[in-house]
Amino acid sequence: MTNKILVIGSINMDLVVKVERMPKAGDTVLGTDVENFAGGKGANQAVAAAKAGGSVSMMAKLGNDAYGKELLLDLEDVGIDTGLVETEIGSSGIAFITIDAKGENMIVVSSGANRKITIQDLGKINFSEYKFLVLQLEIPLNVVKKSLEVAKANNLKTILNVAPAQILDDEIIKNTDFLILNEGEAALLANKDVYNKDTAIAAAKSLIVNGAKSVIVTLGADGLIWQSPESSGSLDAHKVNVVDTTAAGDCFCGALAVALSENKSLKQALEFANAAAALATTKKGAQPSLPSRVEIEKILAK
Ligand code: ADP
Repeated sequence: MTNKILVIGSINMDLVVKVERMPKAGDTVLGTDVENFAGGKGANQAVAAAKAGGSVSMMAKLGNDAYGKELLLDLEDVGIDTGLVETEIGSSGIAFITIDAKGENMIVVSSGANRKITIQDLGKINFSEYKFLVLQLEIPLNVVKKSLEVAKANNLKTILNVAPAQILDDEIIKNTDFLILNEGEAALLANKDVYNKDTAIAAAKSLIVNGAKSVIVTLGADGLIWQSPESSGSLDAHKVNVVDTTAAGDCFCGALAVALSENKSLKQALEFANAAAALATTKKGAQPSLPSRVEIEKILAK
């Protein structure tokens, strides 16, 4: 049986400039040279899964600009099958990120080609080739909804990372096997305050009452909780030297998909993802910080 993972999602180029202070409306401030980082939640999760040892395909859209070419190579470099990545006339997804001297950021995302994925494009996918479908919310919501429906009709297991936070309809929740949310996302969906393990468990339980299957709430440095028909519990975060938490959540989702695709129990898979995500916080950047299988197994063995 196949253990292949399909990620349908966004690919962005993150353009980062540092400034002393943020400009106010109408201001101009001078910044540092621009640094480019490959990003987008979909691409980050696909790369995380590939580096964690998964067999990964990605469906996505890039623009016919220089960023598009570079971003495609980044996926191919880690062994992702990009046969379903298409190039459209126009811009690739770009995130404009400004960081001030205090480390606060302001981000404007131009979705570009990510917005151009359509329900018709899903007809190009042979869903039965895959065991897992991994989704986030940086592509049109109707595509997310339809791909979950087709995936379930083809007996795939589905993972949805509810990021960026958005209220979801019942059909999406019903077709998701593993719903992954951070504190803010869980608070929005469950309409409850979420700030520690107990409040996260309450939010997860209320999502399950409303039709969710397995719910995982990640709590940053406080680890995670999960509630599912199979088991429930919590894990503490690994104690690591945190440098940059960008893409920790993406790393978590990609690594979880890999461990589940290898038929690990949910608890074992969460331990794997929790270790991988901790490692992702120890290096700067999104994709460059994503750990390899060897690195993950080393921290798990400790
Ligand atoms: P997001 O990036 O989506 O907001 P979180 O901040 O909840 O997600 O982090 C996701 C996971 O990354 C956590 O459940 C944990 O496994 C790991 N993680 C995040 N921050 C830390 C940290 N400071 N120390 C160790 N692990 C962390």
